[in-house]
Amino acid sequence: MACARVSGCPLYKAFAMKSSLRVWQSYYCDGDFSRCERLKRSSAGQPVPPNMLPNGKLLDVPIDQIQD
Ligand code: SF4
Repeated sequence: MACARVSGCPLYKAFAMKSSLRVWQSYYCDGDFSRCERLKRSSAGQPVPPNMLPNGKLLDVPIDQIQD
């Protein structure tokens, strides 16, 4: 079972398009999504920074600008 937010989550699409990021998708979105900090925040009605990874760390660059 995958995360219920895969259709609306911008990170899910970004992970699928970049092979270097696909491990995040496997581990969190299609795996242990209950540990995803983005999911926890959005479920609690809290804002989710667009550059936040599932582990809660913030990227220095927007996710769509990461080179593969
Ligand atoms: S990044 Fe988190 S909220 Fe987004 S689809 Fe993956 S598990 Fe769900």
